[in-house]
Amino acid sequence: MTSDEKGTAMRKKQMHRLSRAVFSLALIVSCLVFAGALFGQGAPAKARPGREKIDLLVAGGTVITMDAERRVLEDAAVAVRGDTIVAVGPRAELEARYVPARRIDARGRLVLPGLINGHNHAPMTLLRGLKDDVTLQDWLQNYIFPAESRNVNEEFVARGTRLAALEMIRGGTTTYADMYYFEDAIARETKAAGLRAVLGETILDFPAPDNKNLAQALAYTENFLKRWKGDPLIRAAVAPHSVYLCSEKTLKESAALARRYGAPILIHLSETKREVDEIRAQYGLSPPQHLEKVGVLGPDVLAAHCIWVDAADMALLARRQVGCVHNPSSNMMLASGVAPVVEMRAAGVRLGLGTDGPAGSNNDLDLMEEMDLAAKLQKVTRMDPRALGAEQALEMATIGGAKALHMEEEIGSLETGKKADLVLLGISAPHAVPMYQVYSQIVYALKASDVETVVIAGRTVMENRRVLTLNEAEVVARAREYGARVKQSLAAPPK
Ligand SMILES: [Zn+2]
Repeated sequence: MTSDEKGTAMRKKQMHRLSRAVFSLALIVSCLVFAGALFGQGAPAKARPGREKIDLLVAGGTVITMDAERRVLEDAAVAVRGDTIVAVGPRAELEARYVPARRIDARGRLVLPGLINGHNHAPMTLLRGLKDDVTLQDWLQNYIFPAESRNVNEEFVARGTRLAALEMIRGGTTTYADMYYFEDAIARETKAAGLRAVLGETILDFPAPDNKNLAQALAYTENFLKRWKGDPLIRAAVAPHSVYLCSEKTLKESAALARRYGAPILIHLSETKREVDEIRAQYGLSPPQHLEKVGVLGPDVLAAHCIWVDAADMALLARRQVGCVHNPSSNMMLASGVAPVVEMRAAGVRLGLGTDGPAGSNNDLDLMEEMDLAAKLQKVTRMDPRALGAEQALEMATIGGAKALHMEEEIGSLETGKKADLVLLGISAPHAVPMYQVYSQIVYALKASDVETVVIAGRTVMENRRVLTLNEAEVVARAREYGARVKQSLAAPPK
């Protein structure tokens, strides 16, 4: 061996040792990182210089952003500070950039924007299944109105909302829109449960459980709007029931009140053929045209159903930026008809998805099911399996719903600057494997029971299927008691 050869051999040996050392070091580091990933859940990480502190990192899952590019990111993360998303991107990148106070391990799970239920009557959970399989008229006159007049008070509404909130959280709903009575109590319960909501106090031309005339209803609603102004979770709204239960005066005064406070207007619109026929006979206009003439339509209106709308109505609703909410279960259950979802989308209408009330028109608050039904109802009605796809159905329950609620700047997708409302879906159940296409898995295969963890405004409200903001056993037990009470009230002669 020449000295040259000796030198080369030495260098080779040194290089070999060095690379072994580097390899061992890398192994130790990666073990530490892995151990950190395993044992570091929930434990505050040590701040390293140059890394920013955040409150929460949801790390390691498949993130379905529902952003404009519809990005689906594998092994990604969502970084949250306060109630806001500060970054969405590759897990490794975000882990290098941030020190989270808390971590949620999303490995082997889907991370979605929280679902948005665009139409509900939450307290009606306590009347769930009171009477089904009868006509709308029979149901209302002989069951719902008597049950409501004998039972609905502020306590009933609060208890029903608690049950609804529990059900919605467990099904991945993070925002809902509601129309009922004693909406102030609904707001209190909703906020306590940690849910986000647009809550409309119902106004109509006959005595309601809370207010007996228009003046009372407007006064109650004005106080309600004042009380919740600026709340980070609750958006108080005005809900004139419909064009068939509200006179022109009621519609006008409700809209004027809402606009004085910059509050949304919630209404039922073109739900049945009968409604359209009656309004045409009375005013010579379709329900949307009538609302336009009265001055109600605008970019602050959320209209439920919009089933019996023609091309002119759709163009009007799109032009006035009205949000429309499709409720497939309710429309099928009450045989109201099939909303022209495909045409409304094509016309550029802001279109969300809802459950409607859980009594006699659904009967649950399961948006996972509504997505599935929304797609399948369009397919069978049009005899075309391509009519509405899974991605479009998910869109209606997320960013579409946000647009319908005119809240697309805040919610509906997982993007920097938006509110941290997100859900983790498990994908290990028998009905969840294997997975070829993520959108169709979510819409056609996964269920509300696959929702594991729910974060709203950065706060974890359900973790591994345990709701942290409500006493589940107590809520369910009290709901059963109410069921017995309602049954008894209907057996007794009216007061
Ligand atoms: Zn409704």
